[in-house]
Amino acid sequence: MDLLIQFAYIVSAALFIFGLKQLGSPATARRGNTISALGMLVAVVAALLDQGIVDFQWIVLGFVVGGAIGGAAARMVQMTSMPEMVALFNGFGGLASLLVGWAALSPTAETFTLVTIILSILIGGVTFTGSLIAYGKLSETIGSGALLFRGQQVVNSLIVLGILGSSVMFCMEPGNSQWLYLVIGLSLVFGVMVVIPIGGADMPVVISLLNSYSGLAACAAGFAVDNNILIVAGSLVGASGIILTQIMCKAMNRSLGNVLFSGFGSGKVEETSVEGEIKPISVEDAYYVLEAASNVAIVPGYGMAVAQAQHVVKELTELLEQNGTEVNFGIHPVAGRMPGHMNVLLAEADVPYDQLLEMDDINPRMVNVDVAIVIGANDVVNPAARESESSPIYGMPVINVDSARTVFVLKRSMASGFAGIENPLFYKDNTRMLFGDAKESIGGLIREFS
Ligand code: NDP
Repeated sequence: MDLLIQFAYIVSAALFIFGLKQLGSPATARRGNTISALGMLVAVVAALLDQGIVDFQWIVLGFVVGGAIGGAAARMVQMTSMPEMVALFNGFGGLASLLVGWAALSPTAETFTLVTIILSILIGGVTFTGSLIAYGKLSETIGSGALLFRGQQVVNSLIVLGILGSSVMFCMEPGNSQWLYLVIGLSLVFGVMVVIPIGGADMPVVISLLNSYSGLAACAAGFAVDNNILIVAGSLVGASGIILTQIMCKAMNRSLGNVLFSGFGSGKVEETSVEGEIKPISVEDAYYVLEAASNVAIVPGYGMAVAQAQHVVKELTELLEQNGTEVNFGIHPVAGRMPGHMNVLLAEADVPYDQLLEMDDINPRMVNVDVAIVIGANDVVNPAARESESSPIYGMPVINVDSARTVFVLKRSMASGFAGIENPLFYKDNTRMLFGDAKESIGGLIREFS
C-alpha cells in the first residue's frame, strides 16, 4: 500500500508540472487546468489514505460536496468577478494551511517541526485575512483605495516584533498554547495590516502575491505533517505566484516594494491636468472611417468584459477583414481584472491566437495603424503614464494607441478606469469618443457594414 501511495504522489507531482506547463499558452490552458485538477484529486485521495485518517465513504462524500460547491461557484461567478473568487480561494488555502499546522502540534514535536508549524500558521493566517481584505476591495464591499494612517509603520513593526517574540517563546515552551494563540491572532491582524495600504491598480499584484503566500503556507504545512506532495504542490504554487507577481510588477514598471509600501490609490497623489476637448463620434461616421482603413488595431480592456462584447468584436473583425483591412489585437498584460483576462475572452470568441499581439509587439506597429479601436480600456492606454511625471501611473508601460492616425474610444461615459485617474487620451486631437455600451456600439458598426 505504501509503495502505491508513493507512486500516486509521483504521478500527481508529474501531473502538476505538466499541467502548469500547459497553462503557459491559451491554446493548451484548458487541458492544463484539467490535468492539474486531476493531479490534485490523486494527491488528496493518496494523502488521506496515507495518513489513514478517513476511509472511502468520507473521501467520496468530500469529493461530492466539495465538487458541488466548487462547480456551482465556478458556474455562477461572472467572468469579471474572477479575481475576487481567486482572492477567496487563496484565503481558504491559507486558512487550510493554518489549520493543518495547528493540528500537527504535538507535545513531543521536534524544533524543526515546531518551526514549520509556526510558518504554516503565520503565512496561512496572513494569507487568510489579507485575502479577505483583497476580496472586499476588489468587490468594493469595502473601499477599494489604499488606507494609510499616521504611525502605520510603527504599528506594523510592533506586530512583527510580537509575532517574532511569541514564535520564539512557542518553540521554547511548546506545551504553553498561549504563545501559539498569540501567533495566530497576530498573524490574522498582520494580514489585514499588510493589505489595507494597497489599493487601486495594484490589487492584481497583491492577489498574485497572496497566491504565492498560500503556496508557501501549504509547503510549510507539508513539512509540518511530513507530506511530500503538499511540499511539492506548495512550492509550485509559491514559485509560480512569485514569478507572476514579478511579471505584473514589470508590466506596471514598479518594484514589488513600491507596490506594497507606496500607498498607491490612497488619493494623495497629484492628478494629471488635461487639455483639449472631447470629440464624440456617431456609429455612422465611425463606420465611414473604418471602411476606408487598411490597418486596424483593437485594444480591449475591462469594459469589453463588462459588455460581454467579445463575440461581436470577432464579428466586426471578420467584416473588416472581408473589406481588405488588416486587423490585430493589442493585449496589455494587466488589461481587464485578471492576468490573461482578454486572452480568455477572445479565445472564447474564437479569435485566432496569432492575431493577439503583446504590448511590446503592437507598440512599434502603432504608427502604421489607421484606426486604433479602444474597447472598454482606459488605464492601459493612458498616455499620462508616459508623458506626465505627476501621474500616479507614470512609468507604467501602456499601449500607445495615440500614435495611431485615429483612435476610437468605446465607453459609456467619461468615468475613469480602475486606477481612478483622468485619461488625456480622450482629449487628444486624433481621438474620437464613441459613447455607449461597447456591445451596442459594435453591433451598430456591424449593422452599418452589412
Ligand atoms: P479600466 O478599469 O482602466 O477601464 C475600463 C473602462 O471600461 C472604464 O473606463 C469604463 O468606462 C469602461 N466600461 C465599463 N463598462 C463598459 C461597457 N459596458 N461598455 C463600454 N465600456 C465600458 O480597464 P483597463 O482594462 O484599461 O485596465 C485594467 C485596470 O484594472 C488596470 O488599472 C489594472 O491595473 C487593474 N486591474 C487589473 C487586473 C489584472 O490582473 N488584469 C486585476 C485587477 C485590477 P465607462 O464606465 O465610462 O463605460
